[in-house]
Amino acid sequence: MTDTRKTGIERDAADPAVKQDRQQAELAHHLITQGRFAEAAEILTPLVLAETLLFAPYYDLGCLAVRQGDVETAISLFNMALLRDPGSVATRRNLALAQGIEHRYEEALATLSPTLRSGQAGNEDYGLVRDILGKAPALGPIAWARLLSDLRTPSPEQKRALDEYDALLQQLTVRKSENDHLRAKIAEVTTTQPVTSQATSSFLTALGYLSANSLAGFKWFSDENSYRVWDQQVETIQTEIERYIDTQREFPGYCGLCGQSTVFAVSSGLQLEGHTHLREGMICARCGTHNRGRVLGLAIQDFTNRHSNMADILLMEATTPLFGLLSRRLPNLIGTEFQSPTIAGGTAMDVGGRQVRHENILDLSFPDQSLNLIAHADLLEHVPDVETALSECFRTLRNGGELIFSAPFSQTMKQSRKRAELLPSGEIRHFAPEEYHGTHLAYYNFGWDLLDLCRAAGFSNVRIGVCFDPLQGLLSTGRFGGYFMQPIVFSCIR
Ligand SMILES: [Zn+2]
Repeated sequence: MTDTRKTGIERDAADPAVKQDRQQAELAHHLITQGRFAEAAEILTPLVLAETLLFAPYYDLGCLAVRQGDVETAISLFNMALLRDPGSVATRRNLALAQGIEHRYEEALATLSPTLRSGQAGNEDYGLVRDILGKAPALGPIAWARLLSDLRTPSPEQKRALDEYDALLQQLTVRKSENDHLRAKIAEVTTTQPVTSQATSSFLTALGYLSANSLAGFKWFSDENSYRVWDQQVETIQTEIERYIDTQREFPGYCGLCGQSTVFAVSSGLQLEGHTHLREGMICARCGTHNRGRVLGLAIQDFTNRHSNMADILLMEATTPLFGLLSRRLPNLIGTEFQSPTIAGGTAMDVGGRQVRHENILDLSFPDQSLNLIAHADLLEHVPDVETALSECFRTLRNGGELIFSAPFSQTMKQSRKRAELLPSGEIRHFAPEEYHGTHLAYYNFGWDLLDLCRAAGFSNVRIGVCFDPLQGLLSTGRFGGYFMQPIVFSCIR
């Protein structure tokens, strides 16, 4: 803090040196209006580099940068100009223009939005909007919604809908500012479509669904028929919400596992049938869990809430964000990873510099009836013998203990499909094209008969629990075609 040089902001406007700088800046501005950019740059650059300007001519500099083809610099300069004078129509117009050049169309429309709302927009601004929309036919619904809600006055029905949505968010204790995207979804439904009674009613239905079901926990089904009844009720809403989220990069909401308002990164990079693989995505910015990991985590959390005295819990993963989060809460949580079928269960192995217990679900090293809960995620489809795996879980659980797991399970398939078989010789016989998840071969694609396999292993009260909750980033995958999977867990009681 020994630097005594005064920056522009600290200097006194009456200071003669400041006056001189200002005159120079005005001269530069004049030169810019004359198209004499090189001369203007010669005057302005040293002033800006020395940070001595009281009234830094960010706007002029931005125009200069555009002319020189440095659009990125121009955008930062216009943004600085806006910080000083947010109401400047000219600055907004030029910033939006520069953002448009950089293909940042949604930002450009957001920049123009205050101008449009203020009623000060001129033909140039509307022309710019038309231009941006023409260049960006694939512009997201949010941008359209923003634009249209800026241009239109909401109808009483839309206003009521937005008010109700606000009330819903407050009820969910999700901070409003973090839900602009979701609000825009509502705005999209109510503004981009002609306000027919159908659009309004579909919106109100979606709102009603979120209101009644958000943070409501799992819905449990012990057979396909009872599940179907529920599925028919939610199909339209689920499709609409997921079709929208599929187009987004981020989605704000609430993570029920780490218990915080958050933003979910929609895609993990994986695609399914040309759509975002939402089951692997919706990654919580706070705790790092993805959609399917969070569903399993919530089911484990429910178990520990119900059985606070049951301490012997096995989670058959140890290197995931889910394990990290749960192990901080459950000091006795046993985490394991599978290394190789030739290694004895219970052996500590080095995984990324950490000692991790190896276990093979086909041959667990735990004594009979020694565990209260076994949980695993997307493991069974990679095991060559699902019956033995389920029997091992049954053997090691105490009476009344619970097996909670996830596996890719298509709600549109009655019978599981066996894709491959491990022969006694160690060779693998394939019945279908090889399907790998990462580096793991899938031996099965599961359908509804997986519930019967669990019952055959000895379990009672075998159910699937669905936790479809958009605000918690818990969504299905494949609703628009392909392998359709709800956000589910299996629960089996010994
Ligand atoms: Zn979280």
